[in-house]
Amino acid sequence: MAQIPFLDLRASYLALQADIDAAVARVLDSGWYIQGPEVEDFETAYASYCDVSHCVGVASGLDALILALRALDIKAGDEVIVPSHTFIATWLAVSAVGATPIPVEPDLHSYNIDPARIRLAITSKTRAIIAVHLYGQPADLDPILAIAREHKLALVEDAAQAHGSAYKKRRIGAHGDVACWSFYPGKNLGALGDGGAITTDRADIAERVRTLGNYGSKQKYVNEEQGTNSRLDPLQAAILSVKLAHLEAWTERRRRIAERYSSGLQGVIKPHVPDWADPAWHLYVIRHPERDRLMSKLAEEGIHTLVHYPIAPHRQTAFANLGYAQGAFPVAERLADDLLSLPIGPHMPQEHQDRVIDAVNRHVSAM
Ligand SMILES: *Cc1c(COP(=O)(O)O)cnc(C)c1O
Repeated sequence: MAQIPFLDLRASYLALQADIDAAVARVLDSGWYIQGPEVEDFETAYASYCDVSHCVGVASGLDALILALRALDIKAGDEVIVPSHTFIATWLAVSAVGATPIPVEPDLHSYNIDPARIRLAITSKTRAIIAVHLYGQPADLDPILAIAREHKLALVEDAAQAHGSAYKKRRIGAHGDVACWSFYPGKNLGALGDGGAITTDRADIAERVRTLGNYGSKQKYVNEEQGTNSRLDPLQAAILSVKLAHLEAWTERRRRIAERYSSGLQGVIKPHVPDWADPAWHLYVIRHPERDRLMSKLAEEGIHTLVHYPIAPHRQTAFANLGYAQGAFPVAERLADDLLSLPIGPHMPQEHQDRVIDAVNRHVSAM
């Protein structure tokens, strides 16, 4: 039986091959390979897409988070609230600036940080909250913003999975102080290599991130502070500009697949979508108590699924220094045990979607 890949990145390239190849040739021929007009054009286009005043390209999503935290002066001794259930980069950005990630449990049904629990984690050292729009589903930003304002905390959005998603009909991009984006190839807006950006309505943050990512320099060989080298590559920017024009249509396709899954799947817990959310469906994530068995049954039929993520950050050896035992964040641990991401992508044929639905329903009813 034909294989159903988790995500067919080559199909996305082939769909735009002529335009992407022309964009690459244009950059190669320009003789200009760092910063410059391709990067500026993409930044302008992405800021406009997100309906924000500033977009600054950087080298990756992790760098976007690190530079956003640095721009907000988050440093050693500070605490930053993070979801207990997220990709590890959210936590790594906090530890990279010397601060301590303080985990807050998610809501079991939306998978996103539970605003009601944030207050309990705030101490005199708390400086910021990172809300992650996990799987492309927006976090519940209004109550989080209210807490941030009340306690004078910065709100950083980890939007690495949220290109095109909207909260209360307004696109993700500047609900908080700064939103951080990844253009890793598998993301909804993916480059053909690494890339990232921040978007914000705050000119001070945009300028600081741009300086920090350029060796702490605004003017060549004049260094205001100890920055780093983190810039969006012009080749990737040119490719991203081509893909950005198709993001809306591709997001619509993801939405239709998610609708098909949500109406067809039986016997599994499906993602809950609050009425204020327009998710971009980076991932379609179900829950089942016999996740591992279901996963291998599907694999036997050539259906490739993934687990995002099998080990909660507080249980990773990388964060053993924080000293969290098994059971410290039971919601995150439970999700790590029972989540399963089904194949989804803008070039997934309907016949594959139906095969996934049929196979999941068949195996689950036999369990
Ligand atoms: C992908 C991702 C990142 C990191 O992005 P990179 O470009 O891979 O560095 C950060 N946070 C989340 C939630 C992600 O999914």
